[in-house]
Amino acid sequence: MAELGNPTKTIEVLKKYKLQFQKRYGQNFLVDSNILEKIIEAAQITKEDLVLEIGPGIGTMTQYLAEHAGEVIAVEIDKTLIPVLQDTLSCYGNVHIINEDILKVDVKALMQGNGRQLKIVANLPYYITTPIIMGLLESRISFQSITIMVQKEVADRMQAGPGTKDYGALSLAVQYYARPEVLFFVSPHCFMPRPNVESAVIRLTRRDENPVQAENEAYLFSLIRSAFGQRRKTLVNSLFHNMGGNLTKEQVGVALEKMKLSPSIRGEALTLSQFVQLGKLLQEAENL
Ligand code: SAM
Repeated sequence: MAELGNPTKTIEVLKKYKLQFQKRYGQNFLVDSNILEKIIEAAQITKEDLVLEIGPGIGTMTQYLAEHAGEVIAVEIDKTLIPVLQDTLSCYGNVHIINEDILKVDVKALMQGNGRQLKIVANLPYYITTPIIMGLLESRISFQSITIMVQKEVADRMQAGPGTKDYGALSLAVQYYARPEVLFFVSPHCFMPRPNVESAVIRLTRRDENPVQAENEAYLFSLIRSAFGQRRKTLVNSLFHNMGGNLTKEQVGVALEKMKLSPSIRGEALTLSQFVQLGKLLQEAENL
């Protein structure tokens, strides 16, 4: 039975190891067993699964994951937490703790040779949520789902559609690779220390097939990032300034005309399939 998951036990561990919460690492630990159980249920974990947990902290959610999954790989940046994890997880033989920065570790290599299906589960450090998600999606690792606690606003951005204020590079990357579903909201009271924001648990289920297939995904995502680099600029100006000097305004204008789009359109008005089409036209123009 998981011992952690309540404020008393968390305080006990902190005292035993003379730990202080590291704000710079986004340390807001979960102290509510109901929420932990809901996350495990939402992630649909079975004994067949390999779970990658990002930021295990003192091992609270890891205990729940270890009880339900076949194997857990937990990547924690804070080296002072490693002896704590070795202690709190000592009775679980299926957990591997790795002291690394998730943004630097080669996740693909970490999973290599493991025959199990991969599910990613985390109460993410909020200061780097977007780079973590973009990194996982673009790494092309074959995950089945990503179930994560994020700031509510970030969950909104992942689900947003064209023409809304939340729509951007994150929405497009998530929706290209996966089907996002916000499952439930979590109050700051469920964490220690309490964050200043509301949180949400969102599940991204990998699509068997992408809704539209880009010929060159790296080019598509560099185009999308450039389009949203300065939201208030027109798409022509954004791409001219942010695509590393590879495109002229005329080339972007011609491509928009071929797509029957206004020359003064902004990136936020384009759908995913329009970005894919634009990427194809601009790459052809660049290669002429
Ligand atoms: N999973 C624990 C829980 O739910 O109680 C802790 C979650 S806390 C929000 C985020 C965790 O991510 C912290 O343990 C923090 O040290 C770790 N972390 C922060 N940046 C990281 C990074 N770049 N790579 C790996 N872990 C990181």
